[in-house]
Amino acid sequence: MTDIKEEKFLPPQAPVIWFTEKHTPDCGITFRVNKTLYSGKTRYQRLDVLDTPEFGNVMLLDGLVMLTQKDEFVYHEMITQIPLFTHKNPKSYLVIGGGDGGTISRVALHPEIEKITEVEIDEDVVKVSRKFFPEITSGYDDARVELIIGDGIKFVENSPRKYDIVTVDSTDPFGPAKGLFSEKFYRDVYNCLSGDGILTVQSETPFYDVDATKLIYKNLRKSFPIVRVYLAFIPTYPAGIWSFCLASKLYDPLADFDQRRYMNLSLPLKYYNSAIHKAAFALPTVYDCF
Ligand code: SAM
Repeated sequence: MTDIKEEKFLPPQAPVIWFTEKHTPDCGITFRVNKTLYSGKTRYQRLDVLDTPEFGNVMLLDGLVMLTQKDEFVYHEMITQIPLFTHKNPKSYLVIGGGDGGTISRVALHPEIEKITEVEIDEDVVKVSRKFFPEITSGYDDARVELIIGDGIKFVENSPRKYDIVTVDSTDPFGPAKGLFSEKFYRDVYNCLSGDGILTVQSETPFYDVDATKLIYKNLRKSFPIVRVYLAFIPTYPAGIWSFCLASKLYDPLADFDQRRYMNLSLPLKYYNSAIHKAAFALPTVYDCF
């Protein structure tokens, strides 16, 4: 009996499951997966939520990482706080896309904002996010937030209302989001911004495909007198380095940074601060095309 191996009596191990998103044909990011929490096909896209040991819950749209519980704060703070602390007196805020709620929840931290409108094309993204990402969907319960299920492209074409800040928190430039990167769309956004309005957009990673970021920048420059590119470190996005563009009718994000309001509000933020506000606009030499 002494030769029976002890491991024979151990409980069976759970199978080890890995998910990989390819960022180029030759590299990507891999997560170990505890289990799949949700999988479905919406009217617009495939939607999955994975439970992972390293990044918590991870949302995928068409197999691409949209957000993870561990690092979503970087993207959502940087797309909202930079324009909010650049504009002198922001009262109204429009978000196009952003169905996971991370963006509106970071805007709702600001007491000076009176009205937040979100136009998301896919109702299922909102429903699934509310279930699996409760900590970032609290904004939907804020009385200032109005959720419109519809196409952001059509919405800005016909909007009679003006907004102080617009943020395009979209998926990548294909499928329903393709038109959210066009010259015409940016012109329509310009027209629905107030006289000193600001637009922020996510503008892809410049690391693998700087031309994608350049095209967004170029299209914005056709309508806006001031366009600045800034960067943030997001571990689960391709290359870990992500770009945003701030397009403005009047304010410059560095010259007009309202550091006093930032200090007075003392918001519970984890990435954004005064130093980051300024440093984010410092670009590596290789991106001196902007
Ligand atoms: N942070 C994310 C990223 O860059 O990976 C973006 C996430 S957020 C979930 C993007 C949202 O944009 C999706 O929920 C998608 O349904 C929405 N969207 C895509 N095209 C849209 C359109 N034309 N109008 C409104 N929402 C749109």
